[in-house]
Amino acid sequence: MIVMKFGGSSVADAACMREVADLARQALDRGPLVVLSATAKTTDTLFQAATLAESGDLAGALELHRALMTRHRGIARDLFPDGEPEALDAALVELSGELDLLLRGVALLHELSPRSMDAIASLGERLSTRIFAAFMGAAWVDARTVMRTDATFGCGVPLLKDLNALSAELLQPLIGPGKVAVTQGYIGATAQGLTTTLGRGGSDFSAALFGAALGAEDIQIWTDVEGVLTCDPRVVPEAQPIAELSFAEAAELAAFGAKVLHPATIQPAVEAGIPVTVRHTRRPQGRFTTITAEVRTGRPVTALAMRGPVTILTVASAKMLNQSGFLARLFDVFARHRISVDLISTAEVSVSLTVEAEAPLEALMEDLAAFATVGVAEDRTIVAIVGERLKLTPGVTGRCFGALRDVNVEMISMGANEINLSIVVKSADAKGALRSLHAALIEVPVAEGRPA
Ligand code: ADP
Ligand code: ASP
Ligand code: MG
Repeated sequence: MIVMKFGGSSVADAACMREVADLARQALDRGPLVVLSATAKTTDTLFQAATLAESGDLAGALELHRALMTRHRGIARDLFPDGEPEALDAALVELSGELDLLLRGVALLHELSPRSMDAIASLGERLSTRIFAAFMGAAWVDARTVMRTDATFGCGVPLLKDLNALSAELLQPLIGPGKVAVTQGYIGATAQGLTTTLGRGGSDFSAALFGAALGAEDIQIWTDVEGVLTCDPRVVPEAQPIAELSFAEAAELAAFGAKVLHPATIQPAVEAGIPVTVRHTRRPQGRFTTITAEVRTGRPVTALAMRGPVTILTVASAKMLNQSGFLARLFDVFARHRISVDLISTAEVSVSLTVEAEAPLEALMEDLAAFATVGVAEDRTIVAIVGERLKLTPGVTGRCFGALRDVNVEMISMGANEINLSIVVKSADAKGALRSLHAALIEVPVAEGRPA
């Protein structure tokens, strides 16, 4: 069997849903499990409605609810010109009622917990899949009965043993040659049945998890670009599709901001040894990317990505000189405050590291002040240069820094796996840096090393 995941823009309206249905039908003999996102912008709208309700603006929230339902009703009407099937109508009435109740509850209490937010956010995928499954005449599976997670609302951690058992019990019988099953990406539930989500953009992750649980031959991520490109095409229009990527390169790119794949997507596929392909829904015959464990090229630089804003903390202490245990003490403070550190670079008497811009730093800074001075630089962006043979190709770093001659680079870090060279710059400089690097490293290819 295969997993076919379609993102929000792939199911934006009735015409898109028809195209998706065609693609699923063409794959019928491979027994596709279709994993859908919410329709384009729906999850954003649900977040907005929830935030309005929390602020007490129930009228504003309900206005968004009305617009959302009108849009989904419009798609259903377009797909069923002679009237929606009764079961679909009933499902839409029920989902609409649920959203209404949730928004009223949030407005009444002026309280929006991550748990309430997940319940509200789940409506997007539940709506899109109900309409699509009815249109295809396919089995509809509530992902919350299969995608078991812990209770970390907003970023549920999948419980693989349960997920595998539930997939075998509930999904397996519905798929196979000649059959299509449809389920939701992004959402799951705890053992108690409380709705959770896997974090924004999490449908890719869902697809990989279902694919691994079911032993899929291929996990297909269908989106609005011809695969993974050499850079975000919104920043660098010259970005080119990449035919083949290694798991390591893809994981690194996703972690460093290439939105085309959720950062956690690759792991389940790696573990199960299943290739992931990234394709364009509107150009199914076009180019696409295949991500596999093997490296087949001698490419020194594969792609670039950026992620920000982040904050650089520079921790300096004279005590660091010739002292063992300083770093242990330093990171112990971060661990106690549950702040995760991204990039690190050390000098003799100082350590620079990056943390997410939203990280709560006040209490951490107080603890650090006990043994070090800390400098804080906000609104920085990480620019990552990723390539399997980066480390093995002489002169690449020279080309990088040549391209950055007009940019003030504030931190440099070569990832431990050595396929990622990251630099940190002021956020205002990031796009320029990315364009210069793309021009120097990708538009003019670096001489290839010998293939691995
Ligand atoms: P979907 O809704 O299908 O999940 P996303 O919007 O999450 O789609 O991801 C696709 C988008 O990711 C593209 O439209 C593109 O703007 C952006 N993107 C960022 N970096 C890259 C990259 N390296 N390659 C391809 N797309 C990228
Ligand atoms: N609908 C969710 C989001 O917009 C999940 C996804 O599309 O991957 O974040
Ligand atoms: Mg996405």
